[in-house]
Formats: sequence, C-alpha cells, structure tokens
Amino acid sequence: MDIVFLGPPGAGKGTQAQRLAATLGIPQVSTGAILRRAVDEGSPMGRRAKSLMDAGQLVPDEILTELIRDALARPDAAHGVVFDGYPRNEAQAATLDRLLSNIERRIEAVVLVEAPDDVIVARLAGRRSCPRCGAVYHLEAAPPERQGKCDQCGGNLMQRDDDAPATIRERLEVYRKQTAGLEQRYAKSGLLLKVDASSGSPDEVFDLVREALDGRKKK
Ligand code: ADP
Ligand code: AMP
Repeated sequence: MDIVFLGPPGAGKGTQAQRLAATLGIPQVSTGAILRRAVDEGSPMGRRAKSLMDAGQLVPDEILTELIRDALARPDAAHGVVFDGYPRNEAQAATLDRLLSNIERRIEAVVLVEAPDDVIVARLAGRRSCPRCGAVYHLEAAPPERQGKCDQCGGNLMQRDDDAPATIRERLEVYRKQTAGLEQRYAKSGLLLKVDASSGSPDEVFDLVREALDGRKKK
C-alpha cells in the first residue's frame, strides 16, 4: 500500500506518517529526514542540498528522484511506503507515478494534513528533533521525558535551522506556490483525503487519519 502525506510544513505530516507506517508495518520515507542526514554526513547530495534547505527552498527534482528510486528499491519497501514530504510539485508527482508504475504499483491514497498558519507557526517554533534517530517532539504538545534528551535514544534534541521564523515564512510561501496545487491533482484522481489537524492531540488526529483511510475502503 503506497500512501502520500501532503500538507504545509509543520501541520504534522511526519507525526502522522510515522504512526501510519508503524501500524501498517511499512517504511516511512521522509525526504526531509533523508536530506538532513545527507547534510550531516557531508555527502555530495547533502552539500548540494544544504543552502537550499537552510533558505526554505526546494531541493532540485533530480536529487529527489534519485532518493525516491533508492528508497523504493529497498527490500523493506516491497509492500508499500508511506511518503512524507514527497511529492512537492507537479514534476515530482509525475515522477512518483512513473516510478511506482514501473514496479506495477500506484498511489492508493493521499492524506492532506491541514492546519492554519498560526497553528503551524506555533508547532514549528516548538518543534525539537533528535538528529541521531529522527524522533520529533514539541516543547508543549509532545515534550520528551527528560528535558533536551530523546526518549528513544538519549540523543541531544535540536531545533532545526529551517524552523527559524523567517525561514518558516519562506517555507509557507514555497508550499503555497509550488506544492498546494497538488491538492487539485489528487482530488481529481479521487485519491485526496482531507484531515483536520488544527486541533486535537497527535493521537486524536491519527484516529481521523485512520477513519479517512477506512472510509475509503468502504466506498
Ligand atoms: P511536518 O512533518 O508536517 O513538518 P511534524 O510532524 O514534524 O510536521 O510536526 C510539527 C510539530 O508539531 C512537531 O513538534 C510535532 O511534535 C507537533 N505536532 C504534530 N502534530 C501535532 C498535534 N496534533 N498537536 C500538537 N502538536 C503537534
Ligand atoms: P521537511 O522535513 O519535509 O520539512 O523538509 C525540509 C526541507 O527539505 C525542505 O524545506 C526542502 O528544502 C527539502 N525537501 C524535503 N522534501 C523535498 C522535496 N520533495 N522536494 C524538494 N525539497 C525537499
């Protein structure tokens, strides 16, 4: 089962994608997380991506194509993937359709995680992430047990560089200009499921995600 999570930065895509991937027993492919790892490792891909990510801009499509091709070729992706943060423009959406069709698969559902700008800004300002294992926390909504330490691996929690207020504004603009149009694409193909993530805990929002996916099966 291949599922896409779409939505503005900070709405909670990663939080929900992680829960769904664990429930379905398939991998979560977070392109942002993979790129951040490449930046930390100083790989050639990371070196190309870093300045664009810091500025809140999209990384070139061909880098993403390579990354998604690799992710789909992994043995653990054989029964499906939860895509988190990809596709982010029309060209990427067309590429994903093609890469999946090459292996006789297709997107089964696109979950649009929606939240208004003021909620997004508060979520991104309070987000803390573990650079070692990728776990995501929020200072108020989902704090770690020990301040500044990851519950899962004990790593030191960090604030992402691109969660600075000026970069948040830029990322919201990039979402509006380059990504939001995908909502129409997937609505037309009958794949779009809208989930209101503006209030409710991560677990409550996950109940809505599951309801939306289950409702689709009954149609
Ligand atoms: P995205 O992947 O869309 O950028 P994240 O999943 O990283 O967003 O969530 C952004 C921040 O908001 C994180 O700090 C996360 O812990 C927090 N968060 C996610 N969902 C909720 C929610 N339903 N209520 C409150 N905070 C949330
Ligand atoms: P995210 O973790 O999804 O918020 O992504 C963080 C940053 O990684 C984005 O602001 C982009 O610079 C880059 N990125 C992640 N996914 C993509 C994508 N599909 N296309 C282009 N750039 C991406």
